[in-house]
Amino acid sequence: MYRIRFHGRGGQGMKTASRILGSAFFAEGFEVQDAPSYGAERRGAPIFATVRAAHAPILERGPMPQPGLVIVADETLLPMAAGGGVLSGMGERAVLLLHSAVDANTWKQRLQLACRVLTLPLRLEETGGRGFVGALCAGAAARLVGIVSREALEGAIRQELAAMPAQVLAANLTQAGEAYDAMKKHAGCVCEAPEAPAPGAVDANWIDLPFEAAELSAPDIHGALTSIQVRTGLWRTLRPVIDPERCSRCHWLCGSLCPDAAISPEAEGLPVIDYEHCKGCLVCVAVCPRHAIESIPEAQAREQEASP
Ligand code: SF4
Ligand code: SF4
Repeated sequence: MYRIRFHGRGGQGMKTASRILGSAFFAEGFEVQDAPSYGAERRGAPIFATVRAAHAPILERGPMPQPGLVIVADETLLPMAAGGGVLSGMGERAVLLLHSAVDANTWKQRLQLACRVLTLPLRLEETGGRGFVGALCAGAAARLVGIVSREALEGAIRQELAAMPAQVLAANLTQAGEAYDAMKKHAGCVCEAPEAPAPGAVDANWIDLPFEAAELSAPDIHGALTSIQVRTGLWRTLRPVIDPERCSRCHWLCGSLCPDAAISPEAEGLPVIDYEHCKGCLVCVAVCPRHAIESIPEAQAREQEASP
């Protein structure tokens, strides 16, 4: 069985990537199962989607603890446990494909992984950094498994993106084709693995579904509202910034309406945002009566912080 796991953020098209790859496998005569798994239903939040493909009925269900291929559309997801744990279950024979401008050797050293690490260069000009890369990732995955033809891939893209305008479909076909070609050298590097029993399973009359480790699946809540253990600041694509000149110190307003309790007043009553836990929902921008909070792109904010 082929097991592929796509990780990305809401809006990057990982569910669509799994649909495309699943449909392409199906066109090649495989039994297929594909399923997305969402956390927060919000653009930018971590999600993952899985594809299983085999020449026999697929009985395996649920999370994919031992993937053969993991594709990560956004490298900033790597340190997060949310979304299933991007690197969880990666054995020596697995393949990791990162959508990143940093080269594969550097990532292999950084992550200290025994498995094969590949990169798919960023398409910043088309995606604006975090745009839709579903077809791109599906095209790369199709070539890495080595048994999906270009015709099956293109047919699946036409099927899954049928509702899109013609030029959007054409652009996605082009991107997927380029990714398919870029992975030529590594075609077939993803291995099939037999259906594995759940750890510790014995023959019985019931089905024992494996579950995720508690640090991935269980809440760990010690503070108000969201968990302090979950750094939702990593979700943020737009950063709220308070202008102290305009702010009238009515912090009970923005502070109590922030869904993550990420705003609290300092001694003088000026609200301060905890950017470790501010997820960028911009509720505070909407409710501020003085229009004292503006939103700026996260990348721009980081550049400003880095500049002397
Ligand atoms: S709601 Fe606006 S004006 Fe009031 S404390 Fe918050 S940022 Fe300042
Ligand atoms: S954007 Fe504002 S309301 Fe939303 S989490 Fe951040 S500080 Fe809270």
